[in-house]
Amino acid sequence: MPHFLCGRIYYTLSRRKNQMFYRGICKNYCVNCGIVKNNRLIALKRLTLRNIMSYAICARKFAVELNMKENDAYNNKERTFVPVGRFAPTPSGELHAGNVLCALIAYLSVKSRGGKFLLRIEDLDAVRCPKVSAQKILDILGAFGLDGDEPPLRQSERGGVYRAKEEILRSKNLVYPCFCTRAQLHASEAPRLGDGGVVYSGVCRSLTEEQAAEKAKMRKPCLRVAVPDSDITFHDGIAGVFTQNLSRECGDFIIRRSDGVYAYQLAVSVDDGESGVTEVVRGADLLSSTPRQIWLMNLLGYNTPKYYHIPLVCDPFGRKLSKSEGDGIAHRLAVSSPERLLGSLAYAAHIIPADVPASLLELTGAFSWEKIPKTRILLPQSLM
Ligand SMILES: [Zn+2]
Repeated sequence: MPHFLCGRIYYTLSRRKNQMFYRGICKNYCVNCGIVKNNRLIALKRLTLRNIMSYAICARKFAVELNMKENDAYNNKERTFVPVGRFAPTPSGELHAGNVLCALIAYLSVKSRGGKFLLRIEDLDAVRCPKVSAQKILDILGAFGLDGDEPPLRQSERGGVYRAKEEILRSKNLVYPCFCTRAQLHASEAPRLGDGGVVYSGVCRSLTEEQAAEKAKMRKPCLRVAVPDSDITFHDGIAGVFTQNLSRECGDFIIRRSDGVYAYQLAVSVDDGESGVTEVVRGADLLSSTPRQIWLMNLLGYNTPKYYHIPLVCDPFGRKLSKSEGDGIAHRLAVSSPERLLGSLAYAAHIIPADVPASLLELTGAFSWEKIPKTRILLPQSLM
């Protein structure tokens, strides 16, 4: 934490007025992290990739001591700040208890601070994501009261937006066509990624225009974005500090598939940015995607949201939920009240101390991030 000690002027807090005052030497906050008006630290500076680590720690201290939520500090708007959260299911299968819990936590986090909750259908792959599944998911969320404050975005309808952002990346000379086949990628010695992919070696990055044109006659390329050899560090609200080197640990990644469908990383980054999302709550399986998204969002001029990757949701014995156990939430809704199920989910996430029915309003009052388990969430027997 050297950043705390790098400035000459430090600030201290007035709990009464929720403001920080210049006091000469105080070990808490250095001037480099703050925006100062009339000798008062009114907010912390915007996140940049360079100061993200020190900023995260500083913003956290600031938030804790002022009894503010971290996002207020992150977004420089102490008074007018409205947190915006979202839940973004992929309608390729049924919603399971873990998904609903994630939606619930995302909802409670923003609603407990008067914020806005958005829904987004991540149906980029039209074949895997039939329209009817999306509607089913929206119906289930609606039954729990987890509706969005605006009509849901559907990624399948947003090709034009993604194309415009692809152009921005092209204008920065970061986009190139890749002709490698899946077999070629997997035959290489490249290290494997957590999500089953491989770290791309960048072999197509050095193709000349003529070579690319020649190859394009044989095969439609996907588009990759060239990543820098730099570490991206962020502070996750659950997992803590997370660092990833983009070139070593993920490689140039795909932003558009060879069939013309925009890839997940680009679509998510653009949608979160365009929707003004200030916090992303999702499963821990997406933790390792986050540095790519932070980097893309930064390139495209969006603010970096705060991230919370909630831990794995398990059965009462700590075993990972299998697909077959997961499809029960619609059936359970048919035999239980939404409040009964919400209570059980909230109990699993330690939001309430007993497995009893609870309304969304009650849960909103009971919610705090400190309660959410850090390593795993065990569903109670009543949800199995
Ligand atoms: Zn390639």
